[in-house]
Amino acid sequence: MLTPAVLSVDLNALARNYHTLEALTGVPVHPVVKADGYGLGAAPCAKRLMAEGARTFFVARAAEGLALRTSLGSEPTIYVLDGCHGEIAGALKAANVRPVLNQPAQMAAWAAAGGGACGLQIDTGMNRIGFRPEDAPEMFAGLELVLTHLACADEPANPMNRQQRDLFAVSVQRYPGVTRSFANSSGCFLGRDFQFDTARPGVALFGGGPEGKPDTRIAPVATLLADVLQVRDVPAGESVGYGRGFIADRPVRVATVATGYADGVMRSYSPRGEVWIANETRPLLGRVSMDVCAVDVTGLDVSVGDKAELFGPNRPVDAAAAAAGTISYELLTSITTRVPRAYTQ
Ligand SMILES: *Cc1c(COP(=O)(O)O)cnc(C)c1O
Repeated sequence: MLTPAVLSVDLNALARNYHTLEALTGVPVHPVVKADGYGLGAAPCAKRLMAEGARTFFVARAAEGLALRTSLGSEPTIYVLDGCHGEIAGALKAANVRPVLNQPAQMAAWAAAGGGACGLQIDTGMNRIGFRPEDAPEMFAGLELVLTHLACADEPANPMNRQQRDLFAVSVQRYPGVTRSFANSSGCFLGRDFQFDTARPGVALFGGGPEGKPDTRIAPVATLLADVLQVRDVPAGESVGYGRGFIADRPVRVATVATGYADGVMRSYSPRGEVWIANETRPLLGRVSMDVCAVDVTGLDVSVGDKAELFGPNRPVDAAAAAAGTISYELLTSITTRVPRAYTQ
């Protein structure tokens, strides 16, 4: 048991999700593989997506774009959502990585580096990054793609979605022939009239549901499995873990499972967390600690070396995230480097 906790990544499920999103949107899908592919490994995931037909990828940071260029070779188009800050423009240019320009200083930096193919972000209401529509530049040489980002796509009925779509439709009229990129994962599920020319999903490729809960159209991709290190019977009146976080009001059988917050299994699971073990969903007991957590396996046939599933096919990542008071994005990107990634092709 050199590595008692493993994050396994099902690349076939990733491929299925990619094709599902293509079919759903009816437009080319440009995968977002920022934050090391939502924690699952940008290079192996992007390579598989390339094999499935993907030719354009998005990352958040310049460093991520440069690393992805090294991993994927010269063929695919790579956009950096952050754009280019100062001297990084030259490095992007040299690596044929395209910045998404978000403000006048970035336009100047890109021009100073020689300019060329790039994207442009219009902020249609999120007030995060990008040009406000009234401040956006006129058409310029090198502009290949224009995007905006939805603030509320995980709430299909939210009127903000239509407002942003309509504002984007007007804003892009000054960029004839430029590829329009609109929907994130949740946006892919809003209907064909929200798709423009290309979609830009991240989390749904990696198994997250469009409304922050499991969706039968999206296959689970990531599975966090951890070994049972020890099983013991705890009599009524005794406690489990730090701070006596759980006090047994009856005799309980406790499995100590080899994963904790140093693996990214958040301490905030402590009151409500559950795992899948011996074909049942069972509650965590007491506090998650750095390397282990405790599971109530009373009445189950569990022994050392058995696997507990923190999330995966039997315990959707959205449900696991909700139990920790967060979202699938944060849960996936929190799994630390101590946990080896294992890929199924
Ligand atoms: C992260 C991000 C995406 C992908 O979002 P998902 O909700 O994971 O699909 C798309 N566009 C921008 C600008 C982003 O920051």
